[in-house]
Amino acid sequence: MPATPELQHTVGKSASLSGTSLHTGEKVTLRLQPAPVDHGIKFKRKDLQEEPTIDARVENLKTVERATTIGEGAMRVHTVEHVLAALSAMGVDNAIIEMDANEPPIGDGSAIGYVEMIKKAGVIPQESPRRPFTVREPLHIETKGGSVLVVLPDEKFRISCTQVGPQGRFTQFLSTEITPAIFEKEIAPARTFVFYEDVQPLMEKNLIKGGSLENAIVIRGDAVLSKEPLRFEDEFVRHKILDMIGDLALVGHRLRGHIIAVKPGHGPNAELARTLVREHAKTMPALQPRAFPAGEGGLDIKQVMDILPHRYPFLMVDRILGFEGETKITGVKSVTINEPYFGGHFPGHPVMPGVLQVEAMAQVASILMMKITQSASRIGYFISADDVKFRKPVFPGDTLFIHAELTKSRGGKLAKAKCHCAVNDQVVSEGELMFTFL
Ligand SMILES: [Zn+2]
Repeated sequence: MPATPELQHTVGKSASLSGTSLHTGEKVTLRLQPAPVDHGIKFKRKDLQEEPTIDARVENLKTVERATTIGEGAMRVHTVEHVLAALSAMGVDNAIIEMDANEPPIGDGSAIGYVEMIKKAGVIPQESPRRPFTVREPLHIETKGGSVLVVLPDEKFRISCTQVGPQGRFTQFLSTEITPAIFEKEIAPARTFVFYEDVQPLMEKNLIKGGSLENAIVIRGDAVLSKEPLRFEDEFVRHKILDMIGDLALVGHRLRGHIIAVKPGHGPNAELARTLVREHAKTMPALQPRAFPAGEGGLDIKQVMDILPHRYPFLMVDRILGFEGETKITGVKSVTINEPYFGGHFPGHPVMPGVLQVEAMAQVASILMMKITQSASRIGYFISADDVKFRKPVFPGDTLFIHAELTKSRGGKLAKAKCHCAVNDQVVSEGELMFTFL
């Protein structure tokens, strides 16, 4: 498992894997290459003129029959799901997958060959933070074929999958978190399986030239035909999870969410990936990636607005005067008669509402939190405000100095801060605030 999971990762050096491609039966060599931050995963066809590259993104998805194919113009890359699953689950965010054919080697039908290749190359951290897609609301898709895929908010990436074969044969269920260690041990070794009645017509049409018991398990009736015994009693559902991880890697962001899938397949997986991309785009305007300024110096209003999603009339800090070590921050807000709330709070007697001072404390404290975790693209949610006291009224013309000191922080997710606002060196309000970050 990468030592610093919040950073983007690539491979340490190149590594390769050779074998046969499933659909054409041709020999193919796949070579994994490091790539810079924010590059994502791209395939490169070394066998074509100009060596075109293509993003492993759902926008480039072409077909989902039996395997997942991406393409651009006339160029295609078939059966991308196993190598993408391995890269995604082993924590590789940025890499180039070079190939001298239109399909990666199928190996033994599992992803274990790719895991070994990735481990040979090494997974190394890069200087920029990851920008995972945290699912905030339940989403779901349903297909005519009876597949139901639901995504629920979760701190981790989990999959709970029910695999159902024809006539309900070989129905299997497995629920697991996906981490590099779990993937390598529990998911990657699970091999491709096919039902005889599904592949027989393809074999007759010679559409799976590279297919054999070397690289797939064949289920005929209740019989399981396989080169070696099953690797897990529930190997089929494990392979379904493997395929889902690969197909959902096309979202282009690591998922934080719990996927509950009944009868998944490349078609439903792709539909879910598209839904996730659409949903992610909706949350983006407020969450554009931003670089956090280095050092202990202050932040001007532009830098503050690069970090906080708040805008007029709800931005309660004009600038950050400075930081003190990792735990203290001071911000400032000029309170003018033009603040919209003075019109009603109160007519003829303008006083700044106390709750807005608490909001100012929360905004300043969350800037500190984001500096510490070096991720300015999240939103802090208030959980509680304790011991809040309003000691003196704040009037138009006052300059509010907002101080926050972090007293507790857990894994960049939960933070507690002791805060106070001062005018002319006198405390006007104080409180202890707690946040969570998404
Ligand atoms: Zn598969």
